[in-house]
Amino acid sequence: KTMSGEKGKLFPDSASYVGFANLPNQVHRKSVKKGFEFTLMVVGESGLGKSTLINSLFLTDLYPERYIPGAAEKIERTVQIEASTVEIEERGVKLRLTVVDTPGYGDAMNSQDCFKTIIQYIDNQFERYLHDESGLNRRHIVDNRVHCCFYFISPFGHGLKPLDVEFMKAIHSKVNIVPVIAKADTLTLRERDRLKRRILDEIAEQGIRIYQLPDADSDEDEEFKEQTRVLKVSKRPLSVIGSNQLIEVKGKKIRGRLYPWGVVEVENPEHNDFLKLRTMLVTHMQDLQEVTQDLHYENFRSERLKKAGRAADDEVLDKDQILLEKEAEVRALTRLFNEEIRKGRTIVDELQFSIAIVIDLQSHFKKQDSIHCVF
Ligand code: GDP
Repeated sequence: KTMSGEKGKLFPDSASYVGFANLPNQVHRKSVKKGFEFTLMVVGESGLGKSTLINSLFLTDLYPERYIPGAAEKIERTVQIEASTVEIEERGVKLRLTVVDTPGYGDAMNSQDCFKTIIQYIDNQFERYLHDESGLNRRHIVDNRVHCCFYFISPFGHGLKPLDVEFMKAIHSKVNIVPVIAKADTLTLRERDRLKRRILDEIAEQGIRIYQLPDADSDEDEEFKEQTRVLKVSKRPLSVIGSNQLIEVKGKKIRGRLYPWGVVEVENPEHNDFLKLRTMLVTHMQDLQEVTQDLHYENFRSERLKKAGRAADDEVLDKDQILLEKEAEVRALTRLFNEEIRKGRTIVDELQFSIAIVIDLQSHFKKQDSIHCVF
């Protein structure tokens, strides 16, 4: 039986809840009043189980009618960005969750195009926020900035693919990256450990910056401190399993994957890191938002201001250039004018000379006339 519930609705089973209502007290108080706005982006090759995991994480079916493309289609596909928003309410805490999926990532041959579309999306949300922030209605800004990006790594490779490295480098200064190993059930425990170590080494070697959990504040409650401690010591990247199926195990319905040799349970910490990933996300939503605001958005804003400054400088340069050109033009005209005047002078001189000759001739002829009269 699949769990394709009504779009955006929590599953009726009240025993299974996401857990964001259990946020540490101070965060909880703030969020009860305002409600959370959180945007999670999922990136990775299609077929790695992104939508299944998202559905498992938030106990909702975001994509009940998702169509899975065939191989020929995949080659032609460009990255399409799909944003779905659900409002989840849990024990009085509201969460407006937007999941941004990039279904065709890695399918198309031209990977640069995938990058561009995703980066453009992230930048556009920053741009929108910047615009709204400088507008009049600053109180009711909808925050659609991408607060976290789950980057799905294939369990079938021997580490990161060149595309993984390139992509994470392209976005690490824009968004909090949380890498996850997909379909962990396809790996033995030893294989998982080896892959984790390898990926972490590669991330360090390549200088990729991923989201780092902060230390818990000393005034936080003990449970939260313990959760953070466990998360901090667990091996990264977290390796996860997703499933949309409920299976009955020992009289209890659990979310899992049924194999001929047994059941892999999504929410069993011995089977995979799903619960850790969910706890990490849920308990650090506010930190993810703060890092987005203080680091990534500030980066974007200062870059934008620099660009605006450069544009203004260019404008001043343009004006100077125009002024110089005009001055040169005026100088050339003055030179021409002076020349014309000089030419004019010569003409006047010549004219005066000619007039003098004419007068001379006239008086000469007059004299001749008078001689003639005498005869
Ligand atoms: P997406 O394209 O990345 O969103 O992938 P989907 O969520 O549509 O999953 C693709 C296929 O992988 C489906 O047949 C899922 O049932 C299967 N799948 C999802 N998660 C897992 C997992 O954790 N392990 C295994 N073995 N298969 C999975």
